[in-house]
Amino acid sequence: MRSPQAAVEALRADPCGARLLRAFAGGDGVHLVGGAVRDLLLERSPRELDLVVEGDVDAAAARLRGEITAHDRFGTALVRADGCSFDLVRARGESYAHPGALPEVRPGTLDEDLRRRDVTINAIALSFDATVTAVEGALDDLRAGMLRVLHDRSFVDDPTRVWRVARYAARLGFDVEERTRSLAAAADPSTVSGDRLGAELRLALREPDPPAAFEAVLDLNPAYLPDGFEPRPRALPAALALLPGDGRADLLTLAACSAGMDAGALLRWLDEMGFTAPERDLVGAASRFVTGAPLRAARTNAEIARAARGAPVEAVALVGGDNARRWLDELRHVRLEIDGRDLLAAGIPEGPEIGARLQRALDRKLDGEASGREQELRAALE
Ligand code: ATP
Repeated sequence: MRSPQAAVEALRADPCGARLLRAFAGGDGVHLVGGAVRDLLLERSPRELDLVVEGDVDAAAARLRGEITAHDRFGTALVRADGCSFDLVRARGESYAHPGALPEVRPGTLDEDLRRRDVTINAIALSFDATVTAVEGALDDLRAGMLRVLHDRSFVDDPTRVWRVARYAARLGFDVEERTRSLAAAADPSTVSGDRLGAELRLALREPDPPAAFEAVLDLNPAYLPDGFEPRPRALPAALALLPGDGRADLLTLAACSAGMDAGALLRWLDEMGFTAPERDLVGAASRFVTGAPLRAARTNAEIARAARGAPVEAVALVGGDNARRWLDELRHVRLEIDGRDLLAAGIPEGPEIGARLQRALDRKLDGEASGREQELRAALE
């Protein structure tokens, strides 16, 4: 683990970190906080630079000499400058009206601000003269690789923290401390809105190894994922490797994990979690397509096309195998040189027959039996 001094030097080596060091000095009440400090001390690259300010946030924001793109009366500001972005927050205390509610906030001290946080390793502030302020045990926990909540009501105040702990356990390879583990097991996700739980699920899907996050959350408390959800489906790695650049790895992952769920329950759950209707339908379709028997059995290009046409690329990738690969890499891009206007001009009446004839010509083309306008037209008019 790095020393605080070495963490400041690592910050200086980063262009956005260097900007912070030019703007702020020790003793002026501005501190780097949360994940950035954790990651710098762990010799990892910080994902975002969050600052906590004891005092006037707008004055601190102005010192970064960037564009202040958002700020509000609760004392937050977002500053962008030369491709960097900084989140500033007035040091605050919090209280919860009821479990699962969003917190009520008021200005507070740095210590209070650290004590409202989720786990000890995220409750560390680093000022720009390398002074560290942290909750008790935070540095020891960081050194030991241990995730520990700050107090016994933590998961009652905010049950989404169970997801946060699971994501950190998966990403950092940290252990969950025993007391924290038993508090997580007693947490009740049903006091939280579906949208907030869905936001945590979406963050888990963006982790480097989503199945590790799913396994971690199920290990802490099985109520955080629905019945029948499989955290690490066997078919997933091969399907992800097949997925083309225009596909959605997150939705493919979700479809693979939910293939064993009841179809109706899956759609209801996705709605509850705040997925859009197109996302929900894609996951629903892809999760049911996993067996894909006709696609696997297809023996010609035209048969492959008939089995895969209209299915989302995520569904085809999940079926896997050579036929899926051929469809995704080549066949789905094949287009006819003729279109409906050519058939109308040749005297075919407007209506569904046009589409059926074009499809027949395309199947011929896929099977190598028609190439060029002339032959395509002949195949369509047969
Ligand atoms: P990541 O690397 O996942 O971005 P992060 O620690 O920066 O991790 P954020 O979600 O950006 O996570 O939150 C920033 C900080 O705010 C956290 O480090 C933590 O101190 C605090 N925090 C965020 N969400 C909560 C929460 N639900 N309860 C308590 N503290 C929280």
